[in-house]
Amino acid sequence: MKVGVLGAGQLARMMALAGVPLGLEFIFLDPSADACANRLGEHLLGDYNDPELLAQLAERADVVTYEFENVPAPVAEFLATHTEVHPEPNALAVAQDRLVEKRFFDDIGIPTAQYAAIDSLATLKRVMNIIGYPAILKSRTQGYDGKGQSVLRSADDLAAAWELLQGVPAIVEGFVAFDREVSIIAVRSVSGEIAFYPLAENVHRGGILRVSTARVNDAMQQAAENYVTRLLKALDYVGVLALELFDVGGELIANEFAPRVHNSGHWTIEGAETSQFENHLRAITGLPLGATGLVGQSAMVNFIGGLPETKDLLALPHTHCHLYDKAPRKGRKVAHATVRAESSEQLAELLQPLIALADEVDDS
Ligand code: AMP
Repeated sequence: MKVGVLGAGQLARMMALAGVPLGLEFIFLDPSADACANRLGEHLLGDYNDPELLAQLAERADVVTYEFENVPAPVAEFLATHTEVHPEPNALAVAQDRLVEKRFFDDIGIPTAQYAAIDSLATLKRVMNIIGYPAILKSRTQGYDGKGQSVLRSADDLAAAWELLQGVPAIVEGFVAFDREVSIIAVRSVSGEIAFYPLAENVHRGGILRVSTARVNDAMQQAAENYVTRLLKALDYVGVLALELFDVGGELIANEFAPRVHNSGHWTIEGAETSQFENHLRAITGLPLGATGLVGQSAMVNFIGGLPETKDLLALPHTHCHLYDKAPRKGRKVAHATVRAESSEQLAELLQPLIALADEVDDS
């Protein structure tokens, strides 16, 4: 069976690394000649909306999926009328636009931060009298890893923050004074079976994920499972989905969801019985889902902008290295490492030198 993937970055690469042992073949569409998944399958080189390449992809792939959510809606719809596409184009449409996404959460009873649509500086000024400071102004579309976002601390920040967005439609959100950030990764099969991974506790800096730790029996697991189940069912979703949440005094507030495999689930490669990548492929190809239970205790650290020597990384005990084969560039995720331990004490101990190594090469 051949899986088509829009995008050939590290997520597509890790998908293929999980799929080859299942007997799957891969074909990627990506505009970058040195896209890092391209050694693991065929590479259609060109634009995501190149009609000829899309037609080739639709014809040659038995099922198409994607590694990012900003696939233009007409592309997803074209593919869906010519071949099987998972997750469904509607999930993309919801995840692409922060306003649509927040309204979707509202409709299915998942709590969010206070928010309002912003289309002018005048609206922003008016709305901020109600929402209050601090708050965050975000572009409605095309934002990831904190891009297109400004923190509003007082009325003095409004004009500059609006200016920065250059007139694109935006959303303002009340700043959530969270105790921690968590995410739940879940997978739903074609027949509607759902499996959940243990929550990940996530640490971001500058809007970019730095460390994810798999939680053992987290008190918020059940609440997160309830919310993500609502989301999966309402979207009639097939594949892996990640729901990012703020934990505020034991109440969960949704930030956003990603209709794809997610950075906060990379630890599942070593730390769960079946990785998120394998389970995504199992779901979209109609295979039975794999068990999602923990294997030991794990945490993942991202390498951003720079890489240590592989030998220094591998000298750390119980550490597993995933290089993405991407040229280091400022703010770019170029690798991650997962450390697996037998207890939370051992995990904390092993994690320290790994984080120190990541901080040394971090250029952000
Ligand atoms: P996002 O691109 O929306 O995932 O935002 C990136 C990061 O910014 C999140 O993981 C949080 O650390 C922070 N952030 C985003 N929205 C809010 C909010 N409403 N309140 C507090 N922190 C936020």
